[in-house]
Amino acid sequence: MSLLFINNTGLASVSSVNRVLPPPVHKVPAPDIIALSEINPAHSICLTFDDGPDPLYTPKILDVLADHQAKATFFVLGKAAEQFPHLVEQILQAGHSIGNHTYSHRHPWGMSSEQAKQEVVQTNLVINTIAGITPRWFRPPFGRLRTAMRVQAHSEQMTTVLWSRSIIDWGFCGTKVGIARRLDQIKSGDIVLMHDGRPGHNHPDITYQCLPGFLRSLADKCLVARNLDEVIYRAD
Ligand SMILES: [Zn+2]
Repeated sequence: MSLLFINNTGLASVSSVNRVLPPPVHKVPAPDIIALSEINPAHSICLTFDDGPDPLYTPKILDVLADHQAKATFFVLGKAAEQFPHLVEQILQAGHSIGNHTYSHRHPWGMSSEQAKQEVVQTNLVINTIAGITPRWFRPPFGRLRTAMRVQAHSEQMTTVLWSRSIIDWGFCGTKVGIARRLDQIKSGDIVLMHDGRPGHNHPDITYQCLPGFLRSLADKCLVARNLDEVIYRAD
């Protein structure tokens, strides 16, 4: 057991029991993982859902993932997690990973260094209070790497994870045809950016519609959807 994976910042203020996370099986080669293909040749892909949890779409997506025995990683917003703590618990209970996606989703460059740091700190406190864990994974909004955030994430033993492929499930490109086509292009080792939250900005409804067909196709391609903890860390 190592203190490396236990949050030291929020323990005194939370009532839940801190779970000890399993030790690493792969060493992360760098602070930021862009693609997994070099460290994980076993036909894995990592689906990541950002901007939730959302009371409508997160449960639906959890159901589809469960139907296909697929695991994913949910980069949650602290503010949304605070509003819907039961969804954070559901995500973890279903065997998925939780990541920190900042508290408010403000653009990382549109605030002071101290505010940027607090976006990371506050989210981990929320997650720790709900679930008794500190996430291992951090993803800044819009993929913008603000030094103050990365330093804070690193100090809380989190690895910053971007993505190697986006299904672009937002804006005018976020059509059912476009999303399905981009899902079809996913290859072994990809970290895939998707969204289950902020339906005013993203299209989680269309992502949800495309997900069953995509997950059914994985077996034909010899691909398995795993969460980041399964790929980078031992499961036992
Ligand atoms: Zn986001």
